[in-house]
Amino acid sequence: MDDLNRFCESIPKIELHAHLNGCIRSSTFRQLLSSPTDQMRFDTLDKEFPMGDTHSRMANFFEKFSLLRSCITNLDDIRRITHETLEDFISDNVIYAELRTRPRSFQNGAIAASSYVEAILETMQEYEDKICSRLILSIDRTQTLEQAMETLKLAEKYRAQVVGLDLSGDPNVKSFERLRPVFDLAKQINLSTTIHIGELPDEECLNENNLIIDYKPTRLGHFNFRTDDQEQRVLKEQIPLELCPTSNLLTMNLSDLSKHHFDLFYKNKHPLTICTDDSGLMYCRLSSEIFQIVQTFRLTKKELYEFMFQTSNFIFDKNMIEFCQTKLKNFSEQLNLF
Ligand SMILES: [Zn+2]
Repeated sequence: MDDLNRFCESIPKIELHAHLNGCIRSSTFRQLLSSPTDQMRFDTLDKEFPMGDTHSRMANFFEKFSLLRSCITNLDDIRRITHETLEDFISDNVIYAELRTRPRSFQNGAIAASSYVEAILETMQEYEDKICSRLILSIDRTQTLEQAMETLKLAEKYRAQVVGLDLSGDPNVKSFERLRPVFDLAKQINLSTTIHIGELPDEECLNENNLIIDYKPTRLGHFNFRTDDQEQRVLKEQIPLELCPTSNLLTMNLSDLSKHHFDLFYKNKHPLTICTDDSGLMYCRLSSEIFQIVQTFRLTKKELYEFMFQTSNFIFDKNMIEFCQTKLKNFSEQLNLF
């Protein structure tokens, strides 16, 4: 078991679904919120995820997520978060990471959203020889079409390092139809897209799943709740799925990982990637997420290696596929794996 754990730690890994604000270390969060009046906010963050249905779990999750977001108030903060997140991924042997964030301005617009994006990209650049990292810009479900369009413009402006567009946020807000024009434009300019799908078990959410699958984004996030028909469509269309075990387990209220939909899609040889979602909130690392999957579904080292290899095909920066695959091949040769 220890041997397998070590293998999961040492194998070169690819992270494709990580929200930058959700990656904040809890020690950093505590430092950034240092006034005594913030005790209440600490208490909220420390609160256990409640038992109960998906809706209450999701509400608790978004309360925590907005807290983490609220502690970043200037460009130095976001540089620090990016720097620490990349350090954490490097120490976990992640070789390629796509981080996602919603652009924001500070000081009532005096510091523009473009400066926020630039601060992250500059920090990423500093680490380029240790980890290849790229940015995905997130559109929040509550945003207006105009705001979403601004995000698309920013993605275009920084195209060299911004590799995609994401739709995320509170899934109670059904807004894909309203925001679809922005995603259509993204397709027209060949910008990759990833959309959070199937996060709630209610009918409205399931209906929205159809619209999202109709659009056919480049990748899909989670896909926790779905109809049989939707499952078949995604399998047939071969849309890669970003699965986040700890996060999915929490929101789906599953008793253990053996009931996770990884099994179904893996058995169907569907394109998959294992990710952390919000490592700071979930207290997880990519290696431990992968280890849990490998252990639960009894994958061999060879199968894990092959799994990681196929993941490299779904990264948004196609120029880096060869880089990832070479790192993996070198790893296997060094260990004389197969
Ligand atoms: Zn997510």
